[in-house]
Amino acid sequence: MSQLLWPLVRFLLLIEVAASVNFFHHRYEQLVQALFNVHNECPDITRIYTIGRSVQGRHLYVLEFSDNPGIHEPLEPEFKYVGNMHGNEVLGRELLLQLSEFLCEEYHRRNERLTRLIWDTRIHILPSMNPDGYEVAANQDPDAIGYLMGRNNANGIDLNRNFPDLNTFMYYNEKNGGPNHHIPLPANWKSQVEPETLAVIHWMSRYNFVLSANLHGGALVANYPYDKAQEQRSRGYQRKSNTPSPTPDDKLFRKLAKAYSYAHHSMHQSPTCGEQFADGITNGASWYSLSKGMQDFNYLYTNCFEITLELSCDKFPPQKDLEKEWLVNREALITYLEEVHQGIKGLVSDENNNGIAGAVISVNGIGHDVTSGDQGDYFRLLLPGTYTITASADGYRPQTATVTVGPAGPSLVSCAEVGERCVVQIVPLAIQPGPQVTKDIGWSCSTHTYFSGSQQWRELAGPDSCQVPFPTAFPFLSG
Ligand SMILES: [Zn+2]
Repeated sequence: MSQLLWPLVRFLLLIEVAASVNFFHHRYEQLVQALFNVHNECPDITRIYTIGRSVQGRHLYVLEFSDNPGIHEPLEPEFKYVGNMHGNEVLGRELLLQLSEFLCEEYHRRNERLTRLIWDTRIHILPSMNPDGYEVAANQDPDAIGYLMGRNNANGIDLNRNFPDLNTFMYYNEKNGGPNHHIPLPANWKSQVEPETLAVIHWMSRYNFVLSANLHGGALVANYPYDKAQEQRSRGYQRKSNTPSPTPDDKLFRKLAKAYSYAHHSMHQSPTCGEQFADGITNGASWYSLSKGMQDFNYLYTNCFEITLELSCDKFPPQKDLEKEWLVNREALITYLEEVHQGIKGLVSDENNNGIAGAVISVNGIGHDVTSGDQGDYFRLLLPGTYTITASADGYRPQTATVTVGPAGPSLVSCAEVGERCVVQIVPLAIQPGPQVTKDIGWSCSTHTYFSGSQQWRELAGPDSCQVPFPTAFPFLSG
């Protein structure tokens, strides 16, 4: 090859690496490559980390988008998308890769809406929670794949039936008094969950997620908690299979589910995959009751509100449909993400302006509380309306305030020093204080640094559980 042509060929190769994620089913190595490609295209606003390994040792990679990757900025909410929990339900996995590429490219194009979203939100994307199951499903003949082939993890366990069952405690507390938020885990829980589930529970504990969606397939509906029906114990009572099991946040969950179904091209019209759903949404238990699911666990153990999105009649859609499915879901994926900014947020602090972690934020009339994060900031998703909210913490006098949530954007409510202790103070959104930039607490993976310019990365610090292996198997071009 001539000396003159070689630079041109190299240039074209680099263009190809930087090109779009493309519409094909990504095997594990291709998925990892795609995530690193997006990171290399947008190194300033992304970070790749792993939350653990599958049974067969594949990494559960997360791609984070933020104006300050690796850092929790107080008052900036954390959001997550989880795909491919059932290994044979693969559309979510591909949609999340497309979404990652889209966020990166639109940021480069200075798309105002998405740039603002990335500036104001910390977005975590886990394209595959069950990479082992995916490989089993992907190895089948697409025309002859069994309905359940690859659904479970490599130990044969359904991960959406594998979280600690906190609903039983919640129903007990409902009758006898006790919280329905941050319910303690049973003593032996770790021995009863799979590695993938354990990794996700640790992930949920390390980040104060506010809103989430779990992407599945096999139907077309947005499903909201609770998934588990309250058992009817009275003898002789024939329990209907479609008994709804609403949370105290039922109205909010319906609105969140509709945010997706109405922004989706057709979900709200409830086209049939055999079943009809009004508005394209359903309460989980009203559809069919299941125990130990992930969305109920989010609500009962963390501050996070999660819904489950069933995105395609066909669990493993043909490759030719992927581009169409992306266009059908694109607006809905963005619209749902923006819902993380609907409600109130603020800071709970002591008389010295130190943030109080674990303070309880209660909303009068809604029987479900949230708590403040490590730096004292809290987020409470709410529908438009006027609310009386109370902040309380051990050793402090509770403080109450009235706050109005408008139809657009969050109200900022802070808890600043007044008198000897803490008061909730309403601060207009326009004078929202600049966030203090602080390193993540308790998540030393954030100390990893990636050097995308040379297409390599180095690990600076972090325990073994956080190590991300250098992906030597993947054909990175050297710089
Ligand atoms: Zn599923």
